[in-house]
Amino acid sequence: MNKCNLCGAKEFKKIISDNGYLVVECLNCGLVYLRNPPSKKEMKNLYSFENGYRKNAAKKKRDIERAMAQLKFINKHGQKGELLDVGCSVGLLLDFAKKDGWDVRGLDISKDALKVARDDFGLDVKEGVIAENSYPKEEFDVIHLGDYIEHVPDPKKTIGILKSFLKKNGVLVLTTPNSGGLSPRVSKNFSQLFGIWTHADPPAHLFQFSKKTIKNLLSGHGFQKITFFRTPFKIEGPVANFRARSLHKSVGGFFYTVLFMPLSIIGFLINQGSSMAVVAGRK
Ligand SMILES: [Zn+2]
Repeated sequence: MNKCNLCGAKEFKKIISDNGYLVVECLNCGLVYLRNPPSKKEMKNLYSFENGYRKNAAKKKRDIERAMAQLKFINKHGQKGELLDVGCSVGLLLDFAKKDGWDVRGLDISKDALKVARDDFGLDVKEGVIAENSYPKEEFDVIHLGDYIEHVPDPKKTIGILKSFLKKNGVLVLTTPNSGGLSPRVSKNFSQLFGIWTHADPPAHLFQFSKKTIKNLLSGHGFQKITFFRTPFKIEGPVANFRARSLHKSVGGFFYTVLFMPLSIIGFLINQGSSMAVVAGRK
């Protein structure tokens, strides 16, 4: 990416080089993005079961609890009707929502995950990425993006298209990492020193949004009543990044964890967590 997806500015500052991926921050609007994202083919490979993507997700207690919490959150903020889950993976959320009376559809890039969604849950799901012709206009009451928007190559275009699929007064519900959360924000200043910024997670995450940048993205497309919440799944979120990285295996990583994991937990408690849930309405 040679310019910021959100504001078009070309000026950036380096946060960290992680596994050959350059994570930068736009000097104009603060959007964090990968300067050298993986190719389309590399991205597709990331989401195969062979590479460990969400394998057995349909059976894991953690994933089931997460899907139930997501549905509860959606029920609270949306009018029950047509639900689209973008990045639906194996379809746990859609399965719960269907049983709860929603008409459901899903889309995902992972062929393997969609096979489970179809075979185990009998769901109406589509393979691919969001395009203009993916669904009819003004079709859905709620569109849900669970940790999805940070993975797409062009969030600005994607949100614009998704808006067109929403009915008038429909609602967009999304969760995404929050680069403005307490731990990511503080640890970013020490990323060069430690050679780590756990928040970035390349190459899967092409972007990192803060409340400010996600608000810019959504209001730029005319979304209204943009409201922020804690992610609807307990304390587990803040510590997941640290655990996933096996940081305890290096001395620097150990100190990094001791310093910043508590900030992750405090951040979660004071509503400055390392991830966020956002609800936005289409007028
Ligand atoms: Zn920018």
